[in-house]
Amino acid sequence: FLPHLVASMEQVEETYIMVKPDGVQRGLVGEIISRFEKKGFKLIGLKLFQCPQDLAEEHYIDLKAKSFYPKLIDYITSGPVVCMAWEGIGVVASARKLIGSTNPLQAEPGTIRGDLAVQTGRNVVHGSDSPENGKREIALWFGEGEICEWTPAQAPWLRE
Ligand code: UDP
Ligand code: MG
Repeated sequence: FLPHLVASMEQVEETYIMVKPDGVQRGLVGEIISRFEKKGFKLIGLKLFQCPQDLAEEHYIDLKAKSFYPKLIDYITSGPVVCMAWEGIGVVASARKLIGSTNPLQAEPGTIRGDLAVQTGRNVVHGSDSPENGKREIALWFGEGEICEWTPAQAPWLRE
């Protein structure tokens, strides 16, 4: 067992995180951003944005056949969202853990949905479900020049 080889296999990933309109309306933007910020992931994109219908439909294309799809599109376009791109090793799965289960009543306390929401249709935040979808969604929601490459001052204090 060679820990340094395992470490070298760890992949830097990107995930698309979004505060949904209910999170913005309820004043939870700072709280939600700070969960990812405090964990130690790197913010590489951030904006407040009114999502147009066609973008919402494209973002949730995999759910097009679901009965809740029309209501989901109405929900996501009902007010401004906060779009974020976060980078880090293992960030996709870790962000999903920080967010918690889709149904907030089943989400563990300590997770964003577990702490801050009560209904699936108002679950305050989105997170990509795979590294591939992370890349796809960041390309969908951010334009050229909206993603920043930078090195946080805390970098050497997060990873040895
Ligand atoms: N959703 C809903 N009703 C359902 C399932 C999902 O309104 O029965 C909404 C909910 O806002 C959820 C989003 O559709 O976050 C996307 O569903 P998915 O299964 O991808 O859940 P997530 O990845 O957001 O946990
Ligand atoms: Mg999903």
